[in-house]
Amino acid sequence: MKESLIKNTSAYISLIKDIKNDRLNHAYLLLSSDRLTREKFLLLATMAIMCPSRGCGYCAVCKKIKNNNHVDVKYIAANAKIKVKDANELVEDTQIKSIEGGRKVYIIENAEEMSAAVQNKLLKTYEEPPQNVVIILSAANDSTLLPTIKSRAKKLFILPFSSHDIIEELTESGLSKEKAEVIASYAQGSFEKAQAMAQREDYQQYFMSVMEILLTLKNSKQIIDYIYNPVFEKGNIALTLDFMEIILSDVLSIKTHADIPLKIKNRDYDLQRLADRFSPAAAAMALLSVNEARKMLNFNVNAVSVAEKILFDILEASYKWQ
Ligand SMILES: [Zn+2]
Repeated sequence: MKESLIKNTSAYISLIKDIKNDRLNHAYLLLSSDRLTREKFLLLATMAIMCPSRGCGYCAVCKKIKNNNHVDVKYIAANAKIKVKDANELVEDTQIKSIEGGRKVYIIENAEEMSAAVQNKLLKTYEEPPQNVVIILSAANDSTLLPTIKSRAKKLFILPFSSHDIIEELTESGLSKEKAEVIASYAQGSFEKAQAMAQREDYQQYFMSVMEILLTLKNSKQIIDYIYNPVFEKGNIALTLDFMEIILSDVLSIKTHADIPLKIKNRDYDLQRLADRFSPAAAAMALLSVNEARKMLNFNVNAVSVAEKILFDILEASYKWQ
């Protein structure tokens, strides 16, 4: 992913402005659903905060950050296992002076997975921030973050990139233009999704398998067979939900006669056949259930249960909201 893409985002520009004006916040909340975008942003942001020339990329400070061995930059991968004890340690660590004499940066990835108790512990540091400490919370979304955490951190949003950006990146990495265009239409501005698809030879058949399941799902007895389809395996189900979301949002566009181009190219016939089975409300409900299924996955519910739920919900929506 090109640096310039990140450096042109309003989030990055706003951070640089804070650094230039010597008004760096002690807490930032980076929000982007794209993991690759977040990773790239965090690297560039940390360099900008620590480097004497605001992220030159070449000096000793930048090099250490790139190699992930700067003593004053700490990455904490938050997950369900992060305990209050760990948060306490972080708070205590912020009180210790920086080793190299400059700022200290703490990055908490997947911050949305922190429990409320852990977040409450961090609040202490938010309220009485030691000088020169910058904490960056990085999250796909802020729905599980406490209002107090959200209100005290300066938000940095990164919106999905354009198809054009994704296509350019994919073709530069050696993909044919044709393939890149198809993947970009599925990826919806996410480099993470685009990369995941570019790494699969079978993404076209995969997409069609998901489409086929939606087209043929007509009664609850089928669900028991479908949940053992490879598209619902642990390593695949997240991509399957992404595909379902794109398909169902196109179905919704068809049903509401929305004046926007369909996201999926060259599949009008299948989309129309599927749209025949949904009312606008049913399509909207089915879309919501994809989001619910994604939440279940984030809470580590097993793939088979998530598959069962999503298929049942979509079926129910198509009947209940006729
Ligand atoms: Zn530098």
